[in-house]
Amino acid sequence: MASTPKLTTTISSSPSLQILCRKLPIAINLPSSSTSRSLPKTLSHLSSLRPRVASVSNHRYYSSSRRFSVRAQNDNGADSDRHYDFDLFTIGAGSGGVRASRFATSYGASAAVCELPFSTISSDTAGGVGGTCVLRGCVPKKLLVYASKYTHEFEDSHGFGWKYDTEPSHDWSTLIANKNAELQRLTGIYKNILNNANVKLIEGRGKVIDPHTVDVDGKIYTTRNILIAVGGRPFIPDIPGREFAIDSDAALDLPSKPKKIAIVGGGYIALEFAGIFNGLNSEVHVFIRQKKVLRGFDEDVRDFVGEQMSLRGIEFHTEESPEAIIKAGDGSFSLKTSKGTVDGFSHVMFATGRKPNTKNLGLENVGVKLAKNGAIEVDEYSRTSVPSIYAVGDVTDRINLTPVALMEGMALAKTLFQNDPTKPDYRAVPCAVFAQPPIGTVGLTEEQAIEQYGDIDVFTSNFKPLKATLSGLPDRVFMKLIVCANTNKVLGVHMCGEDSPEIIQGFGVAVKAGLTKADFDATVGVHPTAAEEFVTMRTPTRKIRKESSEGKANVEAKTAV
Ligand SMILES: Cc1cc2nc3c(=O)[nH]c(=O)nc-3n(C[C@H](O)[C@H](O)[C@H](O)COP(=O)(O)OP(=O)(O)OC[C@H]3O[C@@H](n4cnc5c(N)ncnc54)[C@H](O)[C@@H]3O)c2cc1C
Repeated sequence: MASTPKLTTTISSSPSLQILCRKLPIAINLPSSSTSRSLPKTLSHLSSLRPRVASVSNHRYYSSSRRFSVRAQNDNGADSDRHYDFDLFTIGAGSGGVRASRFATSYGASAAVCELPFSTISSDTAGGVGGTCVLRGCVPKKLLVYASKYTHEFEDSHGFGWKYDTEPSHDWSTLIANKNAELQRLTGIYKNILNNANVKLIEGRGKVIDPHTVDVDGKIYTTRNILIAVGGRPFIPDIPGREFAIDSDAALDLPSKPKKIAIVGGGYIALEFAGIFNGLNSEVHVFIRQKKVLRGFDEDVRDFVGEQMSLRGIEFHTEESPEAIIKAGDGSFSLKTSKGTVDGFSHVMFATGRKPNTKNLGLENVGVKLAKNGAIEVDEYSRTSVPSIYAVGDVTDRINLTPVALMEGMALAKTLFQNDPTKPDYRAVPCAVFAQPPIGTVGLTEEQAIEQYGDIDVFTSNFKPLKATLSGLPDRVFMKLIVCANTNKVLGVHMCGEDSPEIIQGFGVAVKAGLTKADFDATVGVHPTAAEEFVTMRTPTRKIRKESSEGKANVEAKTAV
């Protein structure tokens, strides 16, 4: 049975959309401008895509495809009589760089990509083909999430009759060794993808010399277009004792499991690691500057996930800013914050943000404009202030997610080499937080919907999932639909609970397609699932109408059934 979640009756003005979409993996509603189509995303799909360029001789990478470069050549300062080694030279073989390069060759262009040597920990001199997502982000993180979920499953199982003669134990080194073997396999697959697509892979550090020249460790390459796809790296603020802190790269590759860890930060990476270490039975303390976790996400979801994670034993220290890390004589660490000091940590992790990798890339010398935080400024076609230089992915600090980097890379390849100017489409980008319980979200938050549409109906459901009836655990699920009162369009779908990342992908299609609440209501549920609740929520929890004559928003609250 559904119970009513806490009513939010104060309608505060939402934070600037621009800040939100830069800093957080949320959807933003912008006017439609794209002609891009979605592409298959799995590795098996990737490797099955065959490039259209024939590899005939050693010159295959140098076969200039002038007909496809016309647009770029005409207005980017490239000399049409000059020989260039490549049509596209990409710096960085992560999600965006690999996608743009291999689609460039599939459209007939010649392409090369340079990438730093492999390492699980990134630095100025180390990286690896596949980039952050494959080596230090989505993939290894999700593998560790899987590992950590067993503890909860073991607990769940007792109510279903399972008994264990001894407590299950976990071997951290097996997990890390298996994870690292998988990373080696994946980086190899990415190299094959580039090779099969006739993209020349050059190992080394790339640097822009002029608008048509790249230096890789002293070797010079000329190119009609340059793509910067160097991503970002974790950033630890300059506080005393920062040398004792670990970042997300290190947290994914620790030699031993933390006994007691402080995680500083309230964003999605902090919550995911909190879930991982909590699941693996470390004592976890999360320190956040704000009152709530996940700034930029829907307020109800922020409340709900914080409560559920606390119930699983994670201790949140809210409105506390880190001031220093102190190492004690016994090797443990204390974290001094604006409110006091907590002692006895085996590890202190910072997940307080990432910085674009634009240092020492030669960008300032050629006139590429950077934002204050070092991100590359680009137009809607991912073009920088220098006409022959483009940038995609995290280095542009738009929406910092793998599928977005892929979309931007592909749109660029189409624009440059298929005579099909294509803007990435940032409307209704679904995303997930692999916390425990996880979150799936697409479209507008309630606050954004009020700001953009004024009159909205909000449907919420907060219930005990079927599994928890026998397990006896305090797990709950929260679901929310935000509907435009005038058009009946579903503007936002949010869920926190088991499987929500998987569930939200399907609802992402519905929101992107602009389906209405009536379409949701007309859809038959899949029973018994949690997801069916999305098509059976009939009574709004609250109706929010534009400001009344007294200057206050009018909220009519009803009880959800
Ligand atoms: C812990 C963590 C978890 C994440 N989880 C998710 C998730 O669940 N879902 C999701 O969608 N996104 C997730 N992300 C974000 C995602 O990983 C990034 O958005 C994505 O990898 C960005 O791709 P990119 O191509 O812009 O850059 P990257 O993948 O970072 O690739 C940039 C590449 O450039 C290389 N490079 C840098 N400088 C140079 C140079 N001078 N010369 C040569 N090469 C260079 C780097 O070594 C790197 O390989 C996560 C990120 C982190 C850190």
